[in-house]
Amino acid sequence: MIEIVWFKRDLRLIDHAPLLAASQRGPVLPLYIVEPSVVAAQDYDPSHWTFTSACLRELREALARIGQPLVVRVGEALQVLQQLHAEHRFARLWSHEETGNAITYQRDIAVGRWARANGIEWNETPNGGVIRRLKTRNGWAQKWEARMAAPVVETPTHLPKILIEPGPIPTLRELNLGPDHRTGAQPGGSKAAHNLLDSFLEHRGHRYHYEMSSPLTAEDSCSRLSTHLAYGTISTRVVVHKLRSHIASTTDPTQRRALRAFDARLHWRDHFMQKLEDEPAIEHHNFVRGFDGMRENDYNPERFVAWAEGRTGYPMIDACMRCLHETGWINFRMRAMLVSFAAYHLWLHWRPVGLHLAKLFVDYEPGIHWSQCQMQSGTTGINTLRIYNPIKQAEDHDPQGIFIRRWIPEVEDYPSPIVEHKEAVREARSKLSEFRRRFDVRNGIGEVAKKHGSRKKTAARSKPKTSKQQSLLPF
Ligand SMILES: Cc1cc2nc3c(=O)[nH]c(=O)nc-3n(C[C@H](O)[C@H](O)[C@H](O)COP(=O)(O)OP(=O)(O)OC[C@H]3O[C@@H](n4cnc5c(N)ncnc54)[C@H](O)[C@@H]3O)c2cc1C
Repeated sequence: MIEIVWFKRDLRLIDHAPLLAASQRGPVLPLYIVEPSVVAAQDYDPSHWTFTSACLRELREALARIGQPLVVRVGEALQVLQQLHAEHRFARLWSHEETGNAITYQRDIAVGRWARANGIEWNETPNGGVIRRLKTRNGWAQKWEARMAAPVVETPTHLPKILIEPGPIPTLRELNLGPDHRTGAQPGGSKAAHNLLDSFLEHRGHRYHYEMSSPLTAEDSCSRLSTHLAYGTISTRVVVHKLRSHIASTTDPTQRRALRAFDARLHWRDHFMQKLEDEPAIEHHNFVRGFDGMRENDYNPERFVAWAEGRTGYPMIDACMRCLHETGWINFRMRAMLVSFAAYHLWLHWRPVGLHLAKLFVDYEPGIHWSQCQMQSGTTGINTLRIYNPIKQAEDHDPQGIFIRRWIPEVEDYPSPIVEHKEAVREARSKLSEFRRRFDVRNGIGEVAKKHGSRKKTAARSKPKTSKQQSLLPF
């Protein structure tokens, strides 16, 4: 009897526990399902498919080399699995756990129900440091360390060939997706991921902590692994293992500090994803429900469009937005600034803002994304309010205007800002503090801290911080 290995956001062979486990039980049918409901969703973009399909082509070849190429089917997951079950009568389904958006969450519930009703055993393995059915955040960091310290899972060397048509990998057009206009987007596949990791550890990342904040230097000095981690062409554990062996062997204190700062971010990745895993509703609802109604009725479509198209009159905001439209990537600080500007200066709700960015980010990872969008909009309640001043960000991180001129050649003759910074921030602060005084908000903040708060934060916050140290914090 065949074993179905369902590849989702884990498009790799190295450190793939479900694949190894399944291969030890019987012949493996490696499956990828292209789901029309996922591809047609509001958070999906043609660039996501460009990246995914490149990963699938590479994965298909790598699997073919060990005996059985990747099988690709287009259709809703439940129907595809039902069809395969009718043809092959499998008894076991193997996959990684997925912390995805509401659509894939509901789909997993439906698949689980169907599997149970049909006597199919669905074995799901964690894919990183996110813990399913977590009872408390206490001790989470230790559990994460234990996951990362586990050995990398071996890749099977041979898969017996199954009689099945692999099926074509659909094109953008076949999926009714528009053209992908990005010119500077990253290539997909595990090989590209490992090359990025090596170049980052060997030279690009040696001044990571100094150079991550400016969009000029971040492009090269950040790892650029986010899209690969999001689609799982490389596992977090593989990255952590290689990183820690570099940390152990380096004698240069600057380099060690840079690599430790990177190590912290890998931890944050799962820390943020854990929030969506524990509370899928945060994709659509405020962390603190007492904030409901704070921005919903003030939505201004003209302001939204100006922001979304990079026409706010603030050169740094507009340059970042235009860079995103073209390349699909921008560094953390500039992402935070874009959302903070939308949330405070323009008083826009994080949901449409987040959807627009989800489509622009090739590395869209729902768990990080929705937590961060809410954090930068002030609706988590537990994070320090950070309102970025776009003029100061330009002075600090692009003092000669190089980045701005690259994306806005017409900057010398630029229209006036659509809102005045000081006035907009004053108004936003006053609206927010009005809400924060309410009993249901204060109560809700306590609940959020208990459920989602980092247990490290209190200690870190009690010490005064320099601005350099602050840039190491995601809060
Ligand atoms: C509003 C907003 C939305 C974001 N949406 C996403 C998203 O959809 N997908 C995504 O991968 N990242 C997101 N981030 C986090 C961060 O900006 C990106 O992970 C990072 O810029 C990607 O570049 P890199 O791989 O070179 O990162 P590096 O700086 O090299 O970091 C290495 C990895 O650590 C993780 N990481 C880094 N910073 C953070 C952080 N602050 N929080 C959580 N994990 C982090 C990522 O997996 C990243 O690939 C968002 C940040 C903000 C402010």
